[in-house]
This record gives sequence, C-alpha cells and structure tokens, in this order.
Amino acid sequence: MERVYNFSPGPSMLALPVLEQAQKDLVCYGDTGMSVMEMSHRSKMYTDIYDQTVADLRELMAIPDSYEVLFLQGGATQQFSAVPLNLMVNGKADYVDSGNFAHLAAEEAKRYGTVNVAASSREDNYTYVPDLTKAAFSPDADYVHITTNNTLYGTRYVDLPDTPAPLVADASSNILSEVYDINRFGVLYAGAQKNIGPSGLCVLIVRKDLLGKAKDICPKLLNWEVQAKAGSMYNTPNTYGIYLAGLTFKWVKDMGGVAAMEKINIEKAALLYDYLDESKLFKPTAVKEYRSRMNVTFVTGDADKDAAFVKAAAKAGLVNLKGHRTVGGMRASIYNAMPVEGVQKLVDFMKQFEADNA
Ligand SMILES: *Cc1c(COP(=O)(O)O)cnc(C)c1O
Repeated sequence: MERVYNFSPGPSMLALPVLEQAQKDLVCYGDTGMSVMEMSHRSKMYTDIYDQTVADLRELMAIPDSYEVLFLQGGATQQFSAVPLNLMVNGKADYVDSGNFAHLAAEEAKRYGTVNVAASSREDNYTYVPDLTKAAFSPDADYVHITTNNTLYGTRYVDLPDTPAPLVADASSNILSEVYDINRFGVLYAGAQKNIGPSGLCVLIVRKDLLGKAKDICPKLLNWEVQAKAGSMYNTPNTYGIYLAGLTFKWVKDMGGVAAMEKINIEKAALLYDYLDESKLFKPTAVKEYRSRMNVTFVTGDADKDAAFVKAAAKAGLVNLKGHRTVGGMRASIYNAMPVEGVQKLVDFMKQFEADNA
C-alpha cells in the first residue's frame, strides 16, 4: 500500500528518510551485529548514538553550554508535574492559559503551590494568545509557564513575552519548526511525537543555574539535576526513541537546519490559510494574528459537511483531518515532516470539494 499524507496532531508523520534509515538499521545497526533496541544503554555503541543525538540538537538549536539537554520519559505531560517539583522554591508560579495543554499544566502545578493565571483566552475558546502586561506577573513567582504553540486550537506565540521570572515553555508542537533564541528560556521542553520522533519521549533543555532547586518530595526520576548528572540515564532511557530522534535531527540538518524548516513551514501554512481566507465553504477558526503554522483549524459551520469532508479526504489519502473532540471541525497538522506537496494536495482537494458542494 502507498503511504498516505497523515495530518495527525500526534503521533504524527515522520520524515521518510528517517523511517527508511530505521528500517535499514532495524536488525543490525552498522557493524554491531544487533538492533539499537537490543543494545545496553551503558555500552559504547549506544552512548555514541546518544552523544551524537545531543550534539546534533545542540547544533540545530544553538544551545549554549550553560544549558543541559535531557531526554526523559513520560511525554510532555509528565513535565507538567516535574516543572513545579523542580522549580517552585517560593511556592508560586505564573501560568498563561492559552489552550488545553496550557490549562492542564496549570491545573497540575496547583497541586504543588500557588498558581497565578497571568492571562487567559479560555473564555474565548482559546482562539488567540492572550496579551501579557507587566502587571500580570507576580513579583515573587519562581517561573512563568507558557505553551508556545496551541496544538488543539491552532494558535502560536508570535513574540515571546519578556518575563521577570525564568520563562518555562512547553514547545511540544512547534520545537524545531521555527528559530528560537534559547537564551530567552529558563526551560524549554517538548514531547517528541510531533516534530521529533515517537511518543513517550520528552526533550528538556534547562539552564544549569535552575538545577538543584527541586522540592524534597520530587520523585528522583523527575529530578532534572539527578537526570543531568546521570546523562538522562538515571534509569534505562527510551533508547530506541532517542535513536529515532537522532535520525530526525540528522534529517533536519540535511534539510538545512531550523531556519530552512521555518521557511518551508511558512510556505506550507500560507498555502492553506490563503485558500481558507478566500474559500466560501471553509472558515479558519483562529484569530489571524495568532495563527499556528503547525496546526491549521477550520470549519464549514455545518457538522454534517465537516464529517463528509473528513471522510472524503481520507478516501483520497489525506487522513486524520478531524478536529479535536473538544473543538470539532477540522484540523490539519502540518509539522516539519509534512512536505509542501502534501499541503498542496490538501488544498487542491478542498478546492474540488468546495466546487462539488457549491
Ligand atoms: C501533545 C502535547 C502535549 C502532551 O504530550 P504527551 O506526550 O502526550 O504527554 C503537551 N503539550 C502540548 C503543547 C502538546 O502538543
């Protein structure tokens, strides 16, 4: 069977060269005589893979030596707990409620301290990223938490906020899709299954001076300092997931790096939004200024038509376009691995569907 264009929000498409390399390596990696899955995480053959993966991510994101790079388990959601457990020294943090994952992160942090919701677009169904005024921040907050791209509702931070306390960002759905100055962040973390690799893995980049502040009750496995000292190997890490992440990093490098990816992503998003803006059938749902380049949300305004469209698109090899169950409508997730050609095919299909349903 031919591969489809998979617009899934996550786990999502992986770049074909990544899958093909993994297939080549599956039974025997290089001259090791074994699969990466069968290697001891302490063996030199594996630590070589690990070290190269870290080095490639450092190069791609220009991560300075003053930051640790960790590969952790439990996805991004586990970090919703780990962030307050590692950073809430004064027992207080500011959270921006700009989407459902942002909301979940804030709710979890409340278990460990006081959460000040510095700004929220919840009342407006998260159709934009709320503005942050200086007055919104608590003077004694340990950190400010944001979600750089809102996966469900399809919005993104156009500019990062200037915050008095260290900025902690969940970048699960847009890491490596646009250039960030890592120095703006105290912590940046991302579940892997959108722009990096398989699920269950979380990349965490943390400024070294923020280590060593964990609460006594912080589980050892969630303690960033413990994991940093152990090179992400306090226990057995997700060895195969890290290897696949490494293949993706090599692929992004081959594509020309993050700046080159960003250019392609702008082009892909414009293809879709330009059509949506002129369509008489489909309407984009996010406020224009805050539109995500990764998750494009739209509706027809008629639930039956939405369902008919999703079904017809799947038949044409354009799959997983149904919006999140809490949002409805459609969502096209067009992460790094989605080629321009896939987005063009989708736009062509939408135009035809619109003509047939006029
Ligand atoms: C997908 C996603 C998550 C959840 O990731 P898990 O790996 O399932 O824990 C968290 N935050 C954002 C922004 C996401 O897109």
